[in-house]
Amino acid sequence: MPELDWDKTINEILSGTMACQACNALGDRMVVGYTRSVDAAEFAERCTECVDKSDCDARKLVVVCEACAPKYRVNGELMDEAGLMTVRMDECRRNLEESADYLATYWKEDLETDDYEDLQKRLEEVDPELFKEEDSWRIKLEEEYQQLHRWFREAGIPIPDPGWRSQYAEEIIGIGYTTLLGD
Ligand SMILES: [Zn+2]
Ligand SMILES: [Zn+2]
Repeated sequence: MPELDWDKTINEILSGTMACQACNALGDRMVVGYTRSVDAAEFAERCTECVDKSDCDARKLVVVCEACAPKYRVNGELMDEAGLMTVRMDECRRNLEESADYLATYWKEDLETDDYEDLQKRLEEVDPELFKEEDSWRIKLEEEYQQLHRWFREAGIPIPDPGWRSQYAEEIIGIGYTTLLGD
């Protein structure tokens, strides 16, 4: 019997194979999409830090096998790994844009203050705690962006819409903050 070349086998398993986040089944293609199912909070990436997973009806990006997709009412498409990484990059970019908008101005609309002057200030001056929370979330997203960027480079697949990065960096720098995605 020929000996199994384990290194090769493991590399084959790792390259291009995806795992269902719900049941761990492996496959070349998975259903990638969104769900508001509370049960999906147990495995959705963005829900890792959800305080109460039994009560999370947020819109969640998940990766599941075809058998699990109906169980978690996933509105998605069957995709290979490159498709998944493109969706993850879109999601990461959307979250970063939301974070930039929030820092720039949206926090002012959420603010519960009688002091109209506060609207002329920056978030870190008005609510340092809230700023720290938002800032560390944004850094986490930027690190995730860098990982996704690296994946596309290593896979030799062109980065989708590569101009997005400099636009984002200009926006962040323009409102007076720093970014890991700048030059
Ligand atoms: Zn599954
Ligand atoms: Zn959640």
